[in-house]
Amino acid sequence: MKSNQINLTFSSIAENVGIARLLIASVGAQLDLPLNDIEELKVAVSEAVSNAIIHGYHNIPNNLVYLDLDITGTTLRIVVKDRGCGISDVEQAMQPAFSTDPERMGLGFVFMQSFMDELQVESVLEEGTTVTMIKQFKQTPISSH
Ligand code: ATP
Ligand code: MG
Repeated sequence: MKSNQINLTFSSIAENVGIARLLIASVGAQLDLPLNDIEELKVAVSEAVSNAIIHGYHNIPNNLVYLDLDITGTTLRIVVKDRGCGISDVEQAMQPAFSTDPERMGLGFVFMQSFMDELQVESVLEEGTTVTMIKQFKQTPISSH
């Protein structure tokens, strides 16, 4: 089975949310995914990366965010990882409209959940958070071209 792995490590600055979006968009385009699917992947990735920067690292710029993509057969796996503060109660954090910041909507995890087939959040306080998202595609993602 054909597979492709892409790993991107970048500084925890807001500008890099756009870089992560561009990467997933170009992967989606290369896989010939419908535009709507690509838009959804962009939203899911930007929500996870934004969370790592804003919450995981409290917007402190000299930290690293890790984005790992794996396409194997018809499965796309996206892992967004930070070594930040961690989440004390993951179940609560994933509730719709829950946010630790009163200025925010608390909808990031809702988007990730609704746009991806699987969402898994692993977090350890003071160690960091790993968000794993999986999307299955009907067509063979890695075609002959
Ligand atoms: P929005 O995404 O709508 O701007 P939000 O970021 O608060 O608001 P979610 O993305 O759903 O909402 O995240 C819910 C909560 O989970 C956050 O308020 C934050 O407390 C916690 N959280 C999410 N990701 C992380 C992370 N990587 N590190 C630490 N805490 C996180
Ligand atoms: Mg968020």
